[in-house]
Formats: sequence, structure tokens, C-alpha cells
Amino acid sequence: MLATTKKKIRLAALIRSGALCRACSRNKCVDMPTPESPVVIACPICGEKGCDACDDSGYYELTECPQKMITDVVSFIRFADLFNEGCPPVSGGALDQANWFLDAAGQLKADDALVLAEAKK
Ligand SMILES: [Zn+2]
Ligand SMILES: [Zn+2]
Repeated sequence: MLATTKKKIRLAALIRSGALCRACSRNKCVDMPTPESPVVIACPICGEKGCDACDDSGYYELTECPQKMITDVVSFIRFADLFNEGCPPVSGGALDQANWFLDAAGQLKADDALVLAEAKK
């Protein structure tokens, strides 16, 4: 799976938990990150250890509304939720689903759990 896709899935988990864009509506970002005051997100690829995707920092910065960044994965998120609830987008079992989809759906589930655990701290 692409690093950018992994980042977007993490963002989606953060947004729906209310950790990001809590007060934003569909067309307006209330707390818009800017290059001057970016929102810092733990890197979902390396688990904060440092990798190519985050320039070895373990974190990456958002400089625009996270909601805008995930618009192209919104429909996937819907499918992944259905899949995680036992209703796959392609009929058949797990073996009929594309590999990247299984990876991505798995990550979404893991990220949701992680974000929830973070919020409880
Ligand atoms: Zn926003
Ligand atoms: Zn990283």
C-alpha cells in the first residue's frame, strides 16, 4: 500500500474520532492548519520510529485541512467499514478482495483502535 494511502487512512480515523477537524463542516475548515502552525501527526508507516515517508522524524506535518486531504479515500472508508462489519464490497470471502483493500481495511481497523486508545489516555 502507498505511504500516502496509509497517511490518509490514519487521518480518516483521527477525523472521525473527533481528534481532527472536530468543528469543521463539509465546506469550511474551522481550525485550518497552515505552514506556520501545522498540525503534527504521528507517522502511521513507521510507528514514530522514523522512515522515508516522514524524513526520519517519526512525525509529519499537515498544512491544509485534513478533511480535504482524504476526499479521495472517503468511499473506500465506507467500503472498509462494511468489510470490517462482515460485508465485503466484492462478493465472496477475504480471498476475493484485492490485496491492497484487505491491507487498507485492516489498517483502518487498527488505526481506529489506536486513536481510541490515545483519546482515553
Ligand atoms: Zn478541517
Ligand atoms: Zn515514518
